[in-house]
Amino acid sequence: PESITVQELANRMAEKGADLVKALFKMGTAVTLNQPIDQDTAELLVEEFGHRIQRVSDADVEIGMEGEVDAPETLKARPPVVTIMGHVDHGKTSLLDALRGTNVVSGESGGITQHIGAYQVKTKGGDTITFLDTPGHEAFSEMRARGANVTDIVILVVAADDGLMPQTIEAINHTKAAGVPMIVAINKVDKPEANPQRIRERLLEHEIVVEDMGGETQDVEVSALKRTGLDDLLDKIMLQAELLELTANPDRAAEGNVVEAQLDKGRGAVATVLVRKGTLKIGDTFVIGSESGKVRAMINDKGQNVKTAGPSTPVEVLGLSGVPMAGDQLTVVENEARAREVAAYRQEQATKKRTTAAPTSFEHMFSALN
Ligand code: GDP
Ligand code: MG
Repeated sequence: PESITVQELANRMAEKGADLVKALFKMGTAVTLNQPIDQDTAELLVEEFGHRIQRVSDADVEIGMEGEVDAPETLKARPPVVTIMGHVDHGKTSLLDALRGTNVVSGESGGITQHIGAYQVKTKGGDTITFLDTPGHEAFSEMRARGANVTDIVILVVAADDGLMPQTIEAINHTKAAGVPMIVAINKVDKPEANPQRIRERLLEHEIVVEDMGGETQDVEVSALKRTGLDDLLDKIMLQAELLELTANPDRAAEGNVVEAQLDKGRGAVATVLVRKGTLKIGDTFVIGSESGKVRAMINDKGQNVKTAGPSTPVEVLGLSGVPMAGDQLTVVENEARAREVAAYRQEQATKKRTTAAPTSFEHMFSALN
């Protein structure tokens, strides 16, 4: 890429945008978060923050077609992408289920989340929020390890009758490492033994200070079972989203990330893709990880066939040459020859990565999150 915005670079480094602006100011460059900086400046910053750099050759960039910066005037607001994390049985699935107004829990074997699903919820105020349903923290950290920082906001679910459990603490650590803002949902407040205040106090031990205690972390008491506090939670998500000023250019070739993928009897390779920028359309030719394909059909979270999918929209995509991995990037390219070329290139890169120790590379940062 020729340039990258400060915010995009911050996301890729899992650093705060404001800290990058500060560092740039010290280096004698005054910029705002949404302003692009050139590659040399970006590299200096990356070094400044102690990340390792691997130079990307121009050919690599060209073949990957990733990381192109959209002009500020092309950017439009996009829905926040929210991941729900927390200890097993604290009510992640129930909460998501309550938010969707449907019943996923009863359909799951043993009530345990089997895979990552992605769903959209419309708030009373007319805003859209995209939720990723992760089984614990593994999917989140696995995606992040693969360079796909797709989550804008984490909802940490803590059962008010239980407390901070090992997976709660792991979720806190993963969220901190990712530099993603967190909202604490204190669940099961309908239970007689629920003690939300004790949860807030225990959170202090992990440097999470809720607003009532003078901190900056939003918290909300909910009951997924009784469906209370849900509008409050949605409001708080939108409040946080506004602070983040989430935008994307919907009028360009689509880029996205695989949330989950599998081989389906009858339908072939199917991937749930979260579109990050641009609009994915039927007939689009794409590369997805080291596979390629042409969008044959798209199905949204309500099971409906759709013709287009814009930023922050999750869709099942049919028409893949093979099954990609969670976190893999989808990039729309101009034709099939190009798709095969890029897919072959990525396959080669993947093989190389497996045979050499992989540092946090500059290439990775530039190609992963969009
Ligand atoms: P997950 O493992 O975090 O996805 O948790 P689940 O959503 O599967 O919920 C675990 C158990 O807690 C189930 O038996 C739910 O019915 C129950 N549960 C979830 N939310 C609430 C709640 O708000 N109140 C009460 N009383 N039970 C809940
Ligand atoms: Mg679950």
